[in-house]
Amino acid sequence: MVFIQAILSNLNRKMYKVLYLLSLLLIIILFCFFPNLELVNASHLTINTTQLTDNMYIIHGAGVNVVISIGDDGVILVDDQYAPVTEKIKEVIANLTNKSIKIVINTHWHPDHTGGNNYLGESGAIIVSHDNVRKQLSEDQFFEFINLTIPALPEKGLPIITFSDNMTLFQNNDEIKIVHLDNGHTDGDSAVYFTNSNIIYVGDDFSDRSYPFMDLSRGGSIFGLISSLQKILLMIDNDTKVVAGHSGISNETKVKDYLYMLINIKNNINTMIQQKKSLDDIIKSRPTLQYDDIYYDHSFIKPKDLITNIYTSLINKQ
Ligand SMILES: [Zn+2]
Repeated sequence: MVFIQAILSNLNRKMYKVLYLLSLLLIIILFCFFPNLELVNASHLTINTTQLTDNMYIIHGAGVNVVISIGDDGVILVDDQYAPVTEKIKEVIANLTNKSIKIVINTHWHPDHTGGNNYLGESGAIIVSHDNVRKQLSEDQFFEFINLTIPALPEKGLPIITFSDNMTLFQNNDEIKIVHLDNGHTDGDSAVYFTNSNIIYVGDDFSDRSYPFMDLSRGGSIFGLISSLQKILLMIDNDTKVVAGHSGISNETKVKDYLYMLINIKNNINTMIQQKKSLDDIIKSRPTLQYDDIYYDHSFIKPKDLITNIYTSLINKQ
């Protein structure tokens, strides 16, 4: 209970009231999407695995998908959840191979994708990311959306190889292209494309079930999200398996649908801004309505959050 009180004391009064009424539900949501290292008891967690190819898997823990490649060179992870779950993931991997975890690629800095870094770095894994991910993980980050400060990671948890644009790894008989996307979800997003396996992990730039979050304080914007999806579409074909942080296994068509959805909502909101409508009026007009059942999971990003983020992106650009 101590940690629950710690979270609650961090929240402003209005949020506190909402959380008080919906405490159990909302705390579960917090755990699922932004689990802080100390907040999680993973002892009873079930870890599921989906096989993608002969040597690639998705490991589903508590919230975020982890993609792994197993081969002669070792185990490569894309994203790593958070420490207690990562320990369990390591046990799952040990049941699949006796190879050790050699490389961890972070698609962006958010703690549900990097919380296992320190544990894996201490175990000798090489952590790789875009330059900005290392910068963000090196300092405390105040996360406005959930009113919580995410502490900096210790040195061992930081990426030791970073890049500004793209890099390619030749491992496990695959050509793994790590491509920096535009500033959409954050300013350090990467897509990781396993060329020979035709599998791409796109972090949190896409989901087949929920609206995107734009981390506006760390460079995210609707413009970058749209151009990132366009960039992803240039890399893949209709046989590509698309994996994202919070999504089922998806495909090119669904990425296109997501892109068109965002363009449509952005254009509608932009038109209303030109008509001098207020943010409240725009939210009331429900510009996401036709998509709310398709992107049905509103547990983290609600339609009004998406509208507010797109509105803010558009206003910031003016
Ligand atoms: Zn994220």
